[in-house]
Amino acid sequence: MQLNHAEKLEELLVNIKEKLDEEDTSKLELERCQRIIHRASTYSSNCKACGDYLLELESHLHDLYEKVEHGKEPNVKEHRSFVGNIVSHMQKEHKLVTKGYYMSVFISIGTGLGLVFGSLLFDQLALGLPIGFMLGIAIGAGLDEDAKKKGNVIQIFTSAKD
Ligand SMILES: [Zn+2]
Repeated sequence: MQLNHAEKLEELLVNIKEKLDEEDTSKLELERCQRIIHRASTYSSNCKACGDYLLELESHLHDLYEKVEHGKEPNVKEHRSFVGNIVSHMQKEHKLVTKGYYMSVFISIGTGLGLVFGSLLFDQLALGLPIGFMLGIAIGAGLDEDAKKKGNVIQIFTSAKD
């Protein structure tokens, strides 16, 4: 997929945004959508699925534009599930993670392990728990940082700066 295509989509998004008030724009998470388009277009040269998603997204955005141009309510649910499909593909195939993903995973692993080792090693559940928790935070934070460095983090919130 050429960059032209992504640019066309982004232009479409801008047109849609112009027709909507702030509330609808944030409901539709259009800024996030824009980042996802951008991301998908960089993958699409190597990933057919991403290319297909972009094509689908194009026709979907055309529909959306038609709708808002005629003053109809945008279908937020449909739009979100559309974008959600692309995001879950990227998470699965391109190892993208949402912000803080590893942290939450490793805190639960760490806490679980802490319970086990706490009772095994120290014969004290209460001691293992905070150790596991701290380890989970340490590992999770490291992996989150690593994912961020590699540019593998999807921003979930429209106002997120990092
Ligand atoms: Zn892909």
